Amino acid sequence: MITFSTINEVTEYLNQQKAAGKSIGFVPTMGALHKGHLELMQRAKKENDLLVVSIFVNPVQFNNADDLKKYPRTPDEDNRKLERVHCDVLFAPDAGEMYPEKVTKQYDFGQLDKVMEGAFRPGHFNGVAIVVKKLFDIISPDRAYFGEKDFQQLAIIKKLVAMEKIPVDIVPCPIVREPDGLAMSSRNRLLTAEERKIAPFIYKTLKEAKLRRNHICANPLRQMIINIFEGNKQFRLEYFDIVNDETLQPINGWNNKVGTVACVAVWLGNVRLIDNIRII
Ligand code: AMP
Repeated sequence: MITFSTINEVTEYLNQQKAAGKSIGFVPTMGALHKGHLELMQRAKKENDLLVVSIFVNPVQFNNADDLKKYPRTPDEDNRKLERVHCDVLFAPDAGEMYPEKVTKQYDFGQLDKVMEGAFRPGHFNGVAIVVKKLFDIISPDRAYFGEKDFQQLAIIKKLVAMEKIPVDIVPCPIVREPDGLAMSSRNRLLTAEERKIAPFIYKTLKEAKLRRNHICANPLRQMIINIFEGNKQFRLEYFDIVNDETLQPINGWNNKVGTVACVAVWLGNVRLIDNIRII
């Protein structure tokens, strides 16, 4: 694996590889790598000549300074994991390299970022779009791999690629879970042992929503699941929504022709966790 921290060096190297006819599979991450990240990488490695990974804890997507400060950083462990999946290129810039000047760009994603994560984390998706556009410009990948764990992020990236006409295939990858059902996340490391034990309640409740969908309408189901979350005082619910998988707007009734996903964000102690499950 070759590691680059500057834009000039990584672009020069990748330009040579592209000139030699190599295809590039790209996995952007914020590090603190886990099996969820590694599955994206294994797939990218299989489907392309070169696997390029970026690790950059992107300050402009954090709407909370404390969250940015405590975001887990595990560079040595990450390097070992990247070697194990035979990563070819790691791009790990610092914030000065990525943002030599103050960023001012404002994207308009219409209603896509007005709900769920977008509503609770103002500016978050604008920051995600800024960094992903910049990384795509630097790496020029043939394919880029994103996890369905961040379902709304995936929708935003697809829209960004369409709006900016970026020549890249976006490859969605399924959520990778711990054996007890908890969606893998870098933030899981921040949970106490006690919190980690109760965290599977999130996925258990999402499965309950899926199970009940044949017996109850969408709005009462939404309320029922909200009540279940709010009834468990160890969690603090931010939102639970049942949405159209393309527009991300809440649905009012079931329609087997409309892809439907239930999405949740909850606080467990000081850690904010998100998860989702496909209902239709
Ligand atoms: P992050 O480092 O959290 O920004 O995540 C980098 C990429 O890995 C994003 O595309 C995430 O959606 C994806 N990812 C994170 N956790 C998981 C997971 N449990 N399963 C699948 N993909 C994931």
